[in-house]
Amino acid sequence: MADYQLVVIGAGPGGYVCALRAAQLGLKVACTESWRDPAGAPVLGGTCLNVGCIPSKALLDSSHLYQHISTGAARHGIHCAPPQLDVPTMLKRKDDIVKSLTDGIAALFRKHGVDWIQGHGRLLAPGWIEVSHGDKQSRVSAEQVVIATGSIPAAIPQATVNNQNIVDSTGALEFTEVPAELGIIGAGVIGLELGSVWARLGARVTLLEALPDLLPSVDRELSAVAQKSYRNQGLNLLLGATVSAAEDNQGVTVQYRQNDAVQQTHFNKLIVAVGRHPNTSGLGAAEVGLKLDARGFIQVDTLGRTNLPGVRAIGDVTGGPMLAHKASEEGVRIADSIAGRTITPLNHDHVPWVIYTWPELAWAGSTAEALQSRGIAFRSGAFPFFASGRAKAMGETTGMVKLLSDAQTDRLLGVHIFGPSASELIAEAVLAMEYEASSEDLARTIHAHPSLSEAVHEAALAVNDQALHI
Ligand code: FAD
Ligand code: AMP
Repeated sequence: MADYQLVVIGAGPGGYVCALRAAQLGLKVACTESWRDPAGAPVLGGTCLNVGCIPSKALLDSSHLYQHISTGAARHGIHCAPPQLDVPTMLKRKDDIVKSLTDGIAALFRKHGVDWIQGHGRLLAPGWIEVSHGDKQSRVSAEQVVIATGSIPAAIPQATVNNQNIVDSTGALEFTEVPAELGIIGAGVIGLELGSVWARLGARVTLLEALPDLLPSVDRELSAVAQKSYRNQGLNLLLGATVSAAEDNQGVTVQYRQNDAVQQTHFNKLIVAVGRHPNTSGLGAAEVGLKLDARGFIQVDTLGRTNLPGVRAIGDVTGGPMLAHKASEEGVRIADSIAGRTITPLNHDHVPWVIYTWPELAWAGSTAEALQSRGIAFRSGAFPFFASGRAKAMGETTGMVKLLSDAQTDRLLGVHIFGPSASELIAEAVLAMEYEASSEDLARTIHAHPSLSEAVHEAALAVNDQALHI
């Protein structure tokens, strides 16, 4: 008999959720995890809790508050002395939040009886895992294995991260003072969020983006509105700018090519935020014959099965939307399936995306451009936040909600929001899409007044040219 019915390799939001769910369903479960905090102590939670979603949001919230007090409060008739910035305390607050959450996962493991095997897991064969902890090795057997080893920051040879002045997203959460001039390679989700943090705290931020358009997977209309807002906030967005070299010489000299001209500029710090790479390091993939695709992601079918019997994979290491909630939802479904429940494949189209700038950008489903290219006839309804009573009361009138629905059936096909608390507003849209609701269904749903959600309601009314407040 195997030691465990399930061993999960990796305790990020994919792996730890999978382990918890399987234990809830009565399986004997262990989870191996090799992460250590900066003090060297083993911790759970993966990228998301330690160096991703949570610490970045802690700094985004702190920097938003600082900016609000500095420049927003006076508009409310609240005059403050210029606030004093204390970056070490801001970082400590972030670290405390991370610790309370990672400790919380350990407590949940204890509560549900999940064994945490500290160390690095390597597949020896389907059903056999070797765990290395320091110079000690042990072996565990499992009826089923779930690989949830996540991702690591992608590297480029033009700008080698040295954790001095050239850092990746992890280093960018640890600056102990605000860099006067901050360069960021890559104006994707992570670049824009980290750029926002340090710009709000006073850095002059330049984002160098190789692509000619900002956020190509975002609805073009929303991307244009967001781009204007980011530029107004002082983010210097250089599009079509490909970095060819970066040299750390008491600050960083960066060379880039834009419009066929080679340019050079100097920053105090440079963040490399060019995407994330699947993490299969030391997993034993080649030795056991685990199939990876050309980009290094573990190949899985729609039910998370790899080519090896009894070995599944979830989360960032399998590609698709590299988001925590996608990893977690896969974790739940795969645990259900291992416990004998029938599961349906995850619909990637219904995974909400959020960029936590301010305003926030959130979307789910298809963009207008994607529908056009697929030849799907659709109707569109939009509502700007400047016409929302609640947004006006908050002084947060930038942005809009845009809904796209099928021209024949009126089923919702896409929802795109740039505005205050878009990360919260998108939930209603995802629910509507998941349950195949129409724009008419949303239009008939009563929304509290005054609330930001009324903008979603009005956009739904606008699909039939029946918006009431614009
Ligand atoms: P991970 O969280 O990467 O976890 C994998 C775990 O496996 C790690 O703990 C690792 O130590 C462990 N591991 C790897 N190999 C082994 C091994 N062989 N043995 C044992 N353990 C192993 N996503 C969002 O949805 N919202 C956000 O706001 C957001 N913000 C982000 C901000 C930043 C700065 C970054 C970097 C990422 C952000 N993400 C966000 C992305 C999110 O963090 C990832 O999508 C998510 O963590 C993926 O979860 P995962 O479980 O697949 O992998
Ligand atoms: P994301 O994958 O959303 O994190 O975004 C990463 C961004 O980095 C993408 O938009 C890439 O186009 C961009 N990028 C990658 N390499 C370079 C480079 N050498 N110079 C500038 N931008 C880059």
